Formats: sequence, structure tokens, C-alpha cells
Amino acid sequence: MRTEASLDDLLAFLDESPSPAHVVESAAARLDAAGFTRIGEAADWSGATRSYVVRGGALVAWSAGEQVSHDSPFRIVGAHTDSPGLRVKPRPDSSSLGWRQLGIEVYGGVLLNSWLDRDLGIAGTVVDRDGDTHLVRIHAPLARVPQLAIHLDREISERGLLLDKQTHMTPVWGTGASQAGDFAAYLAEQCDLDGSDAVAAWELCLYDLTPAARLGMDLSLIASGRLDNQLSCWAAVSAITDAPAAGTTSVIALFDHEEVGSESRTGAAGPLLEHVLERLALARGAGRDSYLRALSASSCVSADNAHAVHPNYPERHEPNHRPMVNAGPAVKVNANQRYATSSETAALFERCCREAGVPVQSFVSRNNMPCGSTIGPITATRLGIATVDVGVPQLSMHSARELCGALDPIYMVNALDAYFQH
Ligand code: ZN
Repeated sequence: MRTEASLDDLLAFLDESPSPAHVVESAAARLDAAGFTRIGEAADWSGATRSYVVRGGALVAWSAGEQVSHDSPFRIVGAHTDSPGLRVKPRPDSSSLGWRQLGIEVYGGVLLNSWLDRDLGIAGTVVDRDGDTHLVRIHAPLARVPQLAIHLDREISERGLLLDKQTHMTPVWGTGASQAGDFAAYLAEQCDLDGSDAVAAWELCLYDLTPAARLGMDLSLIASGRLDNQLSCWAAVSAITDAPAAGTTSVIALFDHEEVGSESRTGAAGPLLEHVLERLALARGAGRDSYLRALSASSCVSADNAHAVHPNYPERHEPNHRPMVNAGPAVKVNANQRYATSSETAALFERCCREAGVPVQSFVSRNNMPCGSTIGPITATRLGIATVDVGVPQLSMHSARELCGALDPIYMVNALDAYFQH
């Protein structure tokens, strides 16, 4: 049973994880500390009972109970490591009117305004000429997307802020004229590589330098970038470090690319989880039939943050399904299958919450508003595993700085702990 003391670890996790590659390493560090072993995809997995595998910005970890056999079911918690934001383009060097600028690509559904006037660092991976990957983080105020002064945009209060992704979101990162190769040379210097030619390619995110913080007169809230969905990644990692139930295998699947549709080698629509589950079953001597029997008895909790009711926009929420902060995780339901929850899986998760002493809520979108989606329906469709979509309620989803309750992350871990015992 986790208490509020473990929130310090959540804040540390958020601060350590400015990119999907960093989320994976933050998760790996905690799994290592809990006795998990990292194993290569090409290795022989027989005997790997408490292990994890990393593929790019995705990680799958498993912990097998003492009595698992070839047809034992899996208890899976899924989440995603990526968050909407700004990514550095392959040829980013540009300058205009005495400003050095960095070309960026908008990743996912970004609340563009939230990225204005923030001091931004850069983090992600750099691959050198020899093909070696370097985890890189430049934790310094390096770039900024400057907002236009109100004096030059007099209609902003009446018309709203209009931002063009291509022309208005380009950060400045210095003054003077820039030349092709400047950014690569800077990176090479930062990662101790030999000259700009040594940098072959990168996947780099800009990120807000402001650390995660407790907020409010009663410290009842948490403000941070990337709560969606690093909060759920942290909760999944925290829960799997406890011992699994004897006859099941606890699994966490932290996918990349959810914010852009999950269709990738490391996304939920790819074969990653399916291959891991099949390999685990085969390593236990399962045949095709016992593997499919194991899947039919398995279940999945897809954990991704939900929308808390907004005090300034109550009309945007379905009146009978308005999740409150610090009132427990919400079970997300959508008859049109944007969420994978069924009546059976909703009841399963509510039972887990009851056993853990955790309050639980229910979320449904308004009929006149499009509903978001998650990895839940995708994994359910691929694997045929009974799935429930749940999430901690938050405000400002997809902002550079999001807001959630301080009790809910703990509730989520305790509910997932109980789920892994089923
Ligand atoms: Zn999400």
C-alpha cells in the first residue's frame, strides 16, 4: 500500500523524463532497483522470470508468479511514454533578422499557446556515425518560442490567439546568423562526439525546464509537464515491483507514439506486446493452443489520464460523469469503442479499487463532443484480451504544464497493486 511519501518519487520520475527515451530509462532504473534484469530482444528468454526489454521509447516488463505454467494468464497494465510537444527537425538551422532559430516539428496534439515564453531545454537520443545511440539532455535554458507583444496583436482578447504551427512556433536559440550544421556541432560538443560530422541523426524533444511541483494552499495538486501519461507509467512501474500473484504473470507495457496514433514499431498497434507475451509463453513450453488459452484468461488495464471537471468550463463535461481530482481513478466508457471498457472489465477494476480502499469514478464524453482514445482499444483489437480503460483525472491535458490531484497517483498505484493480485 503506497502513501503520500511516494509522491516524491513521482516528481523525481517526471523531472528525470523529458523524452520517451528518458521515461524508459527512469522506468528501467526503478526496475533494476527492484531486482528486474534487462534482457535483449535477441537473447534467449528461458528462465527470465523478472525481466524487461527496451525497444526505442517503449518498455515491456514482466514478473512471473511462482506457480505459472504454460497456460497461465497475464495481468497487463498498459500506458504510453510519449507526450505532445516540439521536436527538432533534421535540418533545424535557420536565422532571420539577427535571430538564430531552430526548426521544430509539432508532435501530437499540442496546446501551442502553452509552449510560448517558456525556457526550454532539449532531450532525447542522438545516433552517431557508427550507429551508437546516446541519451542526451541539455538541461539549460537553450531555446524559447517568444510570444508577440499585445501592442502588436490588439485583437487578441476579442479574436483569440491564433498560432500557425509552421510560422509562429519556431524557437529562437541565440542571436546572429546561423549556418547549416550549427546545431549538429553544438550537439556533438554536448555529447563529447568528434565534430558535427559525428552526429548522424537525432530524436530530440524541447521541454520546459520548470520542475514538477506540489501546488495549492493545501499542496493538494501536482503541476508538471507530461503528466499525460508519465503519471500512469510511474504507477505501472511502482505496482509491478511488488510480488505477482502466484499463478499469473504481471506485465507492464509502456508504448511510444500513442499521441500520434500508435502505428509504429514501438507503438501499441505494432507487434511488441504480442511478441513478448508469445515468447514468454513459448519459453514456458506453451504450444499455440495453450498460448491462446492463456490470452483468453488474461486481462489488461489501459491507464491513461482522464479529464477532470474544469471549474471554469463545467458545460464541456457530461453532467453525470464529471471526474473530480483527488477522488480516485476514473473508469472510461464509450459505447462507440473509443475506450475498450466492457461491463465485465469495468466491474473488475471497480472490484480492485474496492479491495484497495480506493474511490473510483466514471467518465463518459458528451455526445456532442468527440471522444479521445487510448492504447486500450488497439491492444484489445490486436490481442483479443479483455481490457478496461482507466485514468487519473487531470486539467490542461496536452499543455506544456498539466495539473492533477496529489492523492490520485497514489490511488492509482494501490488499485494497480490490487489488480496484479487478481
Ligand atoms: Zn495520454
